[in-house]
Amino acid sequence: SREWHLTRRPHGEPVDEDFALVDVELPEPGAGQVVVRNTFLSVDPYMRGRMNDVKSYVPPFELDKPMDGEAVGVVEAVGEDAVDATGAPISVGDTVIHPLGWRTRALLPAKHARVLDTDLAPAQAFLGVLGMPGLTAYAGLLRVAEFTEGDAVFVSAAAGAVGSLVGQIARLKGASRVVGSAGGPEKVQWLQDDAGFNAAVDYKAAPIRQGLAEAAPEGIDIYFDNVGGDHLEAAIGALRQNGRAALCGAISVYNNTEAAPGPRNMAMIIGKRLTLRGFIVSDHRDLRPQFEAEVGQWLAEGKIAWRETVVDGIENAVEGFRGLLTGGNTGKMLIRL
Ligand code: NDP
Repeated sequence: SREWHLTRRPHGEPVDEDFALVDVELPEPGAGQVVVRNTFLSVDPYMRGRMNDVKSYVPPFELDKPMDGEAVGVVEAVGEDAVDATGAPISVGDTVIHPLGWRTRALLPAKHARVLDTDLAPAQAFLGVLGMPGLTAYAGLLRVAEFTEGDAVFVSAAAGAVGSLVGQIARLKGASRVVGSAGGPEKVQWLQDDAGFNAAVDYKAAPIRQGLAEAAPEGIDIYFDNVGGDHLEAAIGALRQNGRAALCGAISVYNNTEAAPGPRNMAMIIGKRLTLRGFIVSDHRDLRPQFEAEVGQWLAEGKIAWRETVVDGIENAVEGFRGLLTGGNTGKMLIRL
C-alpha cells in the first residue's frame, strides 16, 4: 500500500516538503478486520486545520504517520466474524465507506466501515452530495440557520461541495431568493444555469459587499458562511432584522499565519437582532436518515445538479488537496485511484 504522511507542520500554504508518500506492507486481515482497496479518497478543507498542532474538534494529524480522512473502496479480504458498522455481514467485493483515506489500501476493523448501496448513487457520491458535505449543508441550513419557506438565502463558496447543496436545498424548500458567491465566471455560470441559483456573484471580480448588494438588493434572511472574512462582513451588512447566519467554515483564513481582523460591522448584530451560530456536522448525525431519504429522492428525480472534480493518482493527492484551498474544484474534490 502507499500512504501519505505529514512530515512537517505547514506554515501558511502547504508545500511538497510537508508531506511524504510512503510504501508499506499490509498484513492479512485478522478476526473482525477487512482490507479495502480504495477507489476514491476525499480531500476536505478541515484537513488543513488537522495539519496544525492545535486543539480542535478533531485531533491534529500526527507527524510521520499516515493521514486519514474518508474514502470509498472495494473489500479485498475479510477476516473471520467481520460485520460492518450497521452489523451487516461484509464480503469480498462489497463497496464500503470508511475513515482510512490518504492511502491506496486500508486494513481496518470491519465495524468502522459501512457497506454502500451503489444502486442509489455511485460510491463516491457518499463522500459528497450524499455524504458528510451533504449532511453539513442540510443540517446547517435547516436546523442551525432555521430556514423557513420564503427566506432569502446567501451562501459563500457556493460552487463547492457544501455550498452548491445549500443553495439547492433552499431552492427546493421554497426560498424567496438564492444567491451564491464563487470565484470566477465559469462557477458563477454553473450556479445560475445548472444549479438554479437566482443570482451568483464572482467575488474575485468586485468586492463581495458590492456584489451582494446588487444580487440581493432587498437583503437576506440567512447567510450560510463557508468563507469568513470579507464575506461574513458583507453578509452582516446584508442581513435583515432577525436574520440568521450558520457559521460552517472560514476557508479564507485557513492558511493564515496570524489572526485575521474580525468583521468591522459587528455592532449591527445588535440593532438587527441577528443570530450567528457555529456548528459541526458530527453533532447532527441524527439527521442522517432524514437527509439521505430527502436528498436521495431529489437526486433520483434529477432535481439536484451536483458535480465532482477528480484528480487521478495517489501521487497527486496533496496537489488535489491544495487545489481545494485555491478554488481548483467545482463541486466535491476527489482523488481517484
Ligand atoms: P468546497 O468544495 O467548497 O471547496 C472549497 C472552496 O472554497 C474552493 O473551491 C474555493 O472556491 C473556496 N475558497 C477558497 N479560498 C477562498 C477565499 N479566500 N475566499 C472565498 N472562497 C474561497 O469545500 P467543502 O464544501 O468541503 O467545504 C466548504 C466549507 O465548509 C469549508 O469552509 C469547510 O471547512 C466547511 N465545512 C464545515 C463542516 C462543519 O462541520 N462545520 C463540515 C464540512 C465542511 P472559489 O473558487 O469559489 O474561491
